[in-house]
Parts: sequence; structure tokens; C-alpha cells
Amino acid sequence: MQVAYFDNAASTKVDPEVLDAMMPFLTECYANPSALHSMAFRAKAAIEEARRTLAELIGADDPAEIIFTSGATEANDTVLNTFGGRMLVSDIEHPSVRNPALESGRADLIPVDQQGTLDFEAYERLLESPTELVSVMSVNNEIGAVQDIDKIGEMAHRAGALFHSDITQGVGKHKLEVQNRPIDYATLSGHKFHAPKGIGMLWVRNGCPLKRFMVGGLQEGGRRSGTLNVAGIVGLGAAAKIAMRQGAAEIEKMARQRQRIIDAIVATVPDVRVNGQPDGAPHIINLSLYRTEGEAVIINLDSHGICCTAGAACASGSGLGSHVLNAIGLPQEWLKGSVRISLSRLTTDAEVDYLIQEFPRAVFEVRGLAGYAAG
Ligand code: PMP
Repeated sequence: MQVAYFDNAASTKVDPEVLDAMMPFLTECYANPSALHSMAFRAKAAIEEARRTLAELIGADDPAEIIFTSGATEANDTVLNTFGGRMLVSDIEHPSVRNPALESGRADLIPVDQQGTLDFEAYERLLESPTELVSVMSVNNEIGAVQDIDKIGEMAHRAGALFHSDITQGVGKHKLEVQNRPIDYATLSGHKFHAPKGIGMLWVRNGCPLKRFMVGGLQEGGRRSGTLNVAGIVGLGAAAKIAMRQGAAEIEKMARQRQRIIDAIVATVPDVRVNGQPDGAPHIINLSLYRTEGEAVIINLDSHGICCTAGAACASGSGLGSHVLNAIGLPQEWLKGSVRISLSRLTTDAEVDYLIQEFPRAVFEVRGLAGYAAG
């Protein structure tokens, strides 16, 4: 059976070049990088090289501002837990920002419009009360909505707040630059851009506070204890190098494939809508199928070798649907029919052809079984 992978916003394939870079640090150079012998020095040197590459990737001047973490969840949680006062987070943040914010009992949600763009009037009003931290993601993981990070950060700073952006879904999808922009914290996860799972990064601008949440061996300058994940860090560095090298051509390729999929599905499937911004992130498509079970379509596609996800995956079981689709005000009849199709620079045109062929069939079959009557 042909296999087509369209769940890259959830996780990507490890690039063979990344795996090659990692292997020596699993097989030959396996020392603890904090030790005092030459194998450890070699591991330590590879970590510092990766740190420099990551700084280059995100456009930061000082590699020492980068702390390696287990992923974006840990990095986001660390930032959110640093602050003891009021916070503002967008209504479409990933649960790793949204949940610590809500659990703190000190956060307000900034609404978004129907396309997922931040509501600036509401944001301005919310900033009238004293605020310590604003956290808004650069690219949303469910609908691909892209935010005006400069404007959001500037408004936060003017109001005396620091600004964090979860840039996890932006890496390799647009140019990143933190140094000369109104950003104080940036976080990402390696497996969204062809590094392995379990490695990520937190960038903290020099002078900004950070509360460590593990008190152990004081690695990473005392900011994040625990033996460093040498192979993971080297893999993250290798993936960052590739992301910088791939340039605009790969991003354009993804955007073209995205548009082809949208055009084909809109032309062949009745009663479908495309959620998010028309010119959103190049790798994410979020569709809603009117009065149709999105999960049934996903299962049907999966039985034909196509991997994608119901947009509401994060909230499945809650019965409430995705908080992101609720935040953009998607009407109830469209909420359950959500499907996310996400690409990477490794997505092939053959995979796209196969998806375009199979998607309408899957929808017709699911709707046929349910006795669907068009709306
Ligand atoms: N933020 C965003 C925007 C994400 O897409 C994800 C992964 N879905 C995370 C944070 C969390 O990443 P991880 O699970 O690797 O910690």
C-alpha cells in the first residue's frame, strides 16, 4: 500500500543527515559532557557548536542565551512558571502555554478573529491592567495562523510586560530573527523540523528572569539541570543547519503543494471550508467538512495509507472540540468535521497526488454511510 504522511505539524521524519550527525555520539563518543576527559571534551565541543548553530538559526547574537530542554513543552512551562504576576496568552496557544497559564489563575486569554489573527483592540484593552508576561505563538499548530509578532511584542513592551513567543511551528517555514525584535523568550521543539523527539530549546534574552524548575547538577549554567542529551542536541544542531540551508525554494515548494491540495479539495468536495488565513503558514491546512465526522474521514484515509489528523485531536475525548476552532468561532455543524493536513520539506508531489485522489473518495464514503444530506 502506498503511504503518504501528512501529519508533519505533529512530528516529522528525522532527516538522514541529522541521524548521521548523531550516530557518533551514541556509539563512540558517549561520555557525559560534564566529565573531565577527552571523550567528554569532544561531546562538550559538539554541544557548543550546536548552540552556536541554533543561535544563528533564530538570529540571536549570544549562544549563551540558549538552554537545551526536552522540547517545547518544557521550555514553555519554564517561561510561564517564571512569572508570579498577571499574564496574557492568546486564545489559540498550544496547551503547553495555555494550560500552565490557566492553571496559574493569573492569566487572561487574548481573543482572535475568525481567521485566527490576534484581536488587537481586545489586546490593547487587556494591556491596560498591569501585566508581567505576554505569550503569543508565531504560527498556530492547528490552523497555521501567523501572527504579527513585532506588533504584539512592541505593545507588550510599551505596557511594561515581557514577551514570549512559541516559535515551534515557524522553524523552517519563515526566516527567524529574535535579536533586534521585541522578543524576550523563544521556544521550539526539534521534532517539528526533522530532528528527533525529546530535544528542544529555550532562548532567554540576557537580563530577563528565568526560574529553574529542577534543582540538580546545575548544568546549563544552573538554569536547567540534568545530563545533557548530547546526541539529541547534535541532531538539533544538524536540523538547524539544514533549515538554514534549505532557503526560500523549499518553503515555496510547500506553499505550492498546500495551495494545490486546497484547490483540489475545494473543487471536488462539496460543503467544505478552509480554516485559518488564506496566506497562512506554508505547511498547514485545516479543513472543516459540514456535518461530517472528521475522525471517520481520518480513519478511512489511514486504511489507505494516508496519515493526517482530526484538527480536534488535542481535545478528543473532551467532547468540546478543539479550543482553537472554538476560539475562531467555528459554528457547531463544522466543528466535528475538522481535518488537519500538514506538510514538510520532505513531502513529495507523489504524496500530494495520492492525497488529492483519495480525499474526496474518503469523504463521500463517510458521508454515504452516515446518510449525509447536504446543507
Ligand atoms: N508548541 C507548539 C506550537 C507545538 O506544535 C508543539 C507540539 N505539538 C509544542 C509546543 C510541544 O512540543 P513538544 O511536545 O515536543 O514538547
